[in-house]
Amino acid sequence: MKYIILSLGCAKNLVDSERFVAILKNYGLTEADEWKDADLILVNTCAFLHAALTELDDTLTAILQEIGKAPTKLVVTGCVMNRGLKTFQEKFPRVDSWISLKDLAAFENYLKSSVLPKGADISRKRLLSRAPLEQEQHVYLRIADGCENHCTYCLIPSIRGKLVSVPIEELVEEAKALVKRGKELVLIAQDSCMYGTDIYGRKALPELIEALHKIKGFEWIRLMYLHPDHFELSWLPLWSKYPKLLPYFEIPIQHVSDGIIHAMNRQKGYAELKALFAAIKAGVPKAVFRTTLMLGYPGEIQEDRDLIDKFLTEVDIMHVGVFGYSPETKGSEWHYPEAWDWDAVRELELELESKLEEQKTAKMEQLVGTIHRGMIVDYSPEMEALCARLWFQAPEIDGIVYLENRPVDDKLMVDIEITDALGDELWGIVTEED
Ligand code: SF4
Repeated sequence: MKYIILSLGCAKNLVDSERFVAILKNYGLTEADEWKDADLILVNTCAFLHAALTELDDTLTAILQEIGKAPTKLVVTGCVMNRGLKTFQEKFPRVDSWISLKDLAAFENYLKSSVLPKGADISRKRLLSRAPLEQEQHVYLRIADGCENHCTYCLIPSIRGKLVSVPIEELVEEAKALVKRGKELVLIAQDSCMYGTDIYGRKALPELIEALHKIKGFEWIRLMYLHPDHFELSWLPLWSKYPKLLPYFEIPIQHVSDGIIHAMNRQKGYAELKALFAAIKAGVPKAVFRTTLMLGYPGEIQEDRDLIDKFLTEVDIMHVGVFGYSPETKGSEWHYPEAWDWDAVRELELELESKLEEQKTAKMEQLVGTIHRGMIVDYSPEMEALCARLWFQAPEIDGIVYLENRPVDDKLMVDIEITDALGDELWGIVTEED
């Protein structure tokens, strides 16, 4: 029997998708190439923003058109179960099963009772706990799920619940099992800095990093989602103590104007954020930053946006993502909000994005001629070139380097001299192998 899975949303959702795929593989299902050939289509949904639910609406409509009257089982799980469910159940009665968020047991039962043929051997053929959906040398380790910060624009706390950290021993076991899949371990959570506060009564990121650093096989450990209000400057020595820990700091600040920050129910304003970035740079001179900014929050005026421009000239942030505020509603009913000027917010986004693109291009051009550690991750048939990521390029979001040559004996970790830059896309040559 064959399946197809669509994993919508972020890397945290991808981890759940890998667990669902492991169940499918455990019962002997293989991946179909096309929707209409699948016996089962599983859609793991994101419901974080209005845009995510619009994407889900489009996705389910497209799948149903494609499969037509085929007997394919269509199963939906993920965040939509806790936001907008009633609306989607009414609109898509053809969906065969709605499985609660992360309810692997319910999915396994559904598979055995309603998908696998009656009378067939329904014993597990394998014992996988996660099966890869991507093969690019990085593996995600979700160290915690849920969030209690209640930023006013975000529904994650109501969708995914309170913070639940995974104990260090379990994470070490999971990471060991992932070693063969990639050389980069990427730690994710909604707010990684708060890891451990629920189960250990303290922020336990340092102990976790110490334990993960001992695992042989990973070359890089990357921390994502470092909330600016919860990052501890006392952690900075970790970056000199643990060489695999990349000096890459993803700190989503969302805004810099004090009034907007406080309205968002966040704490650090302009001066404190600036001081935080400066202190990290002073403690870890190689530090490279990524952040995200939200535009169009209610009450935001031009002066607030001017502060963003000012901040970005004062603090050197290599990667900046921009997104627009959208009014979100909780609950099981979801509809397209009307009284909101989507076009105006989109315009603000586009304006900042185009400024940032220019700045990024200039930053990347300055890198030409410099040499950095990189990891070969893929081959691009269009470019006819191997692709690598430099240590300051996180998977999927920070761009890629196309290589003009190949390492002599297919090593994955190489030094790369940057020879050209076009926005996020870099070109380089391998200068040395280890
Ligand atoms: S910290 Fe992130 S996940 Fe938590 S409420 Fe704020 S935006 Fe949402």
